Amino acid sequence: MKQISIIVFFITLAACKNDTIEYVPENKINEDVSFLADDALEGRKTGTKGEQEAAKYIAERYESLGLSAIGTERYFQDFSFKTSTDPHKETEFVTVNEDSTITGRNVLGFLDNGKEHTVIIGAHYDHLGYGGEGSLHRGEDAIHNGADDNASGVAVMLNLAGKLKNANTNNNYLFIAFSGEELGLLGSNYFVKNPTIDIKKMNYMLNMDMVGRLKADSTLAVYGTGTSPIFKQVITASNDNFKIIENESGVGPSDHTSFYLNNIPVLHFFTGQHEDYHKPGDDSEKLNYEGMATISEYIYTIITDLDDNGKLAYRKTKDQSADTPRFKVGMGVIPDYLFDGEGMRIDGVSEDKPAEKAGLLKGDIVVKLGTVDVTDVQTYMKALSVFDKGDSTTVVVKRNGKDIQAAIKFQQ
Ligand SMILES: [Zn+2]
Repeated sequence: MKQISIIVFFITLAACKNDTIEYVPENKINEDVSFLADDALEGRKTGTKGEQEAAKYIAERYESLGLSAIGTERYFQDFSFKTSTDPHKETEFVTVNEDSTITGRNVLGFLDNGKEHTVIIGAHYDHLGYGGEGSLHRGEDAIHNGADDNASGVAVMLNLAGKLKNANTNNNYLFIAFSGEELGLLGSNYFVKNPTIDIKKMNYMLNMDMVGRLKADSTLAVYGTGTSPIFKQVITASNDNFKIIENESGVGPSDHTSFYLNNIPVLHFFTGQHEDYHKPGDDSEKLNYEGMATISEYIYTIITDLDDNGKLAYRKTKDQSADTPRFKVGMGVIPDYLFDGEGMRIDGVSEDKPAEKAGLLKGDIVVKLGTVDVTDVQTYMKALSVFDKGDSTTVVVKRNGKDIQAAIKFQQ
């Protein structure tokens, strides 16, 4: 008898608590990354079974978060394309499927607050499969799990979907997991050409691509800060955890570029390059999960700050697509995008490429290429864009404080 009354008491207490308790979104960042970056998904290459499995998982997560389906087929938006053998030719989307076409799948979930404008929150979920063209791995084929690139971004996006339920209700939110990113921003490119909501009603776009490797110094890159006049102040005001590295340009190596080129303000969040970039070693156990939760919190604060600002003004930044240098050659290095000293610091050197043959090492800082003084990654890219295949030139790097000059020959 007594025992029963105690049980009743606890049940009543639990029920009361449930009535008054605030909605606390669950943190499934670890779980989401673990699923997406598991060997079972075989690297989530666009057009493969692993990609479809990942898409299905993300759609189920959207559903459990209460997001409504806003693709062309439930949560999905499929796009078919033919890959061109000419790297300078844009990939063409096709409607008729032939043998040589590949079909990718964007996954879209909508948080409808009945408002006029919609904030886009995106992250690509495709990766490199067993390697291939985008891989920096040499040797036998191996699964590229892409935990940082970009299971991390998808997990933070899903975390934000939970946080935004019943909060910051002055906009609607459209969550998009893009495919085809690694093949050239194909999913986002297709989406802006075939949007499932009015593109003029899109307020701004937030892109998370590689947010899983926050380092001990808490450096976080935020790109696109020049694409709306309001961004800089909000990024600073919302921050009390990170050493922020800003870049104004709306054009970058990820999906936000597709939105920026359609006059939508964009921000891209990125925790920086590392040795496992586009290699089989980009695995889930190497991620900083606490860091990802802090990044999600930071982005949530930015959204909160922007909630009563209506539709943000768009601004063009210096790097227009037409000015973005086209490269005919490469040195075979990974630039350290987060290096804020003078020059371009090399974060990795690929085997058998011009830089390695010239004797350059990880950690070298390129300060001159040909006749051009290199002050940062942008000037490095400009310097590189004037060379043709087979050209030779000199490169000056700083190593342990000393200038070293080397001859470099670009591959045929
Ligand atoms: Zn990538």
